[in-house]
Amino acid sequence: MLAKPVMPQVREHVLFEEALERVLDAAMPLGAIERPLCDAPGRVLAEEIIAAEPSPFFDQSAVDGYAVQAEDVSVASTDHSVTLTVIDEVMAGAVPARALTPGTAVRVMTGAPLPPGANAMIPVEQTREPNAWAVEVCAPAQAGDFIRRMGEDVQPGMILISTGTRLSPAHIGLLAAQGRSSVRLFRQPAVALLSTGNELVGEAGDGHPGPTTRIRDANGPMLAALIAGLGCPVINLGVAVDDASAIRAKLRAAFSADVVVTTGGVSAGRHDHVIAAAEACGVEWLFRKVRIKPGMPLVVGRRGRQLFFGLPGNPVSALVTCIQFVRPALLKMMGAQNPLERVVVPAVLEHAIAKGDRKRHFHRVIVERRRGGYIVRSSGGQGSHMVASLARANGLMVIPEESGGVEAGQLVDVELL
Ligand code: AMP
Ligand code: MG
Repeated sequence: MLAKPVMPQVREHVLFEEALERVLDAAMPLGAIERPLCDAPGRVLAEEIIAAEPSPFFDQSAVDGYAVQAEDVSVASTDHSVTLTVIDEVMAGAVPARALTPGTAVRVMTGAPLPPGANAMIPVEQTREPNAWAVEVCAPAQAGDFIRRMGEDVQPGMILISTGTRLSPAHIGLLAAQGRSSVRLFRQPAVALLSTGNELVGEAGDGHPGPTTRIRDANGPMLAALIAGLGCPVINLGVAVDDASAIRAKLRAAFSADVVVTTGGVSAGRHDHVIAAAEACGVEWLFRKVRIKPGMPLVVGRRGRQLFFGLPGNPVSALVTCIQFVRPALLKMMGAQNPLERVVVPAVLEHAIAKGDRKRHFHRVIVERRRGGYIVRSSGGQGSHMVASLARANGLMVIPEESGGVEAGQLVDVELL
């Protein structure tokens, strides 16, 4: 019998940047679909938004106060106030009924249209109101004061939001302000999640390990939280035991999703079956193992346009590799122009951290604001099974491959979690 040929193109132990590039190259945006605006927050726009209307839509008051002719009150002051006759009132949403003439004023609310003939607003705080028909203006005005001009924010035809933008609350506000009730969005990849390991007990009580040797499935709920937080539908496949055919069967079902993420079973152990099972499902590797800590055993492959991520089983390794690789891949598939979205802050390290290898380290840290800058310290034990020190951390300090460690007082980069 012929030996199974070794795929020569599989890269092993790649550097972080190369691994990320391979993942992003393989992640392809999915199709687009028209959705109501209420479904759009956090999702990615699949059209260019061009302004249909000016904003403001008409000249309007920026304050509650009095519309005037600036020339009438150009020298007004507290001691020498100018009294004008109030001829009308315009509420927001109303249409002015009367035009201003010299010596008159109209009471106008914020956002209400300016009456014809007016060229400035006096805020109510700069007036006295002796009765309903008179106003004493106590401050001078110049033409244009406290007026929001039609189109000063948005001109029709302006590009307001470009394709590939992940929609923030402000974008939603802008779309609503433009009268959009639906938008074209990229489809969100569906992600199937599977935890593997004989020792695991799932939320549903699946898996049957001995009562004193069990390990609870932390990865499934943790990764589901991250992925659902991006708005992607999660297909939770629970726990599979370390059995080649069981894992193969679960993976076959998992490939109804756009992306399959497993944890555990990718290391060198005799009972690690995930790699062979993924290959049996037709997965071709982008790389196997990456020079990072935690997370070195990570394997990533593709099956046509579908992606497969075999994350290591230790929870910290699973979350760090999910943040560093799965998240950007999902964002790219979601259509995001900027799939990295990392927030990195410079911080002063409080204590030295040693490093004796040539991997990129992601050290769990606590970052705090101190005197206008940031200080940072380790969040505790860095073992890749230590979920508590992961949960305490609010950042990952990135120590580059070539670094031999970091000194106390050194300025370091921290990716906020
Ligand atoms: P593995 O990558 O399968 O060798 O697992 C490495 C370590 O992570 C082992 O101690 C496992 O028990 C643990 N582990 C694997 N999967 C999970 C999980 N879903 N939740 C918590 N710990 C896990
Ligand atoms: Mg295992």
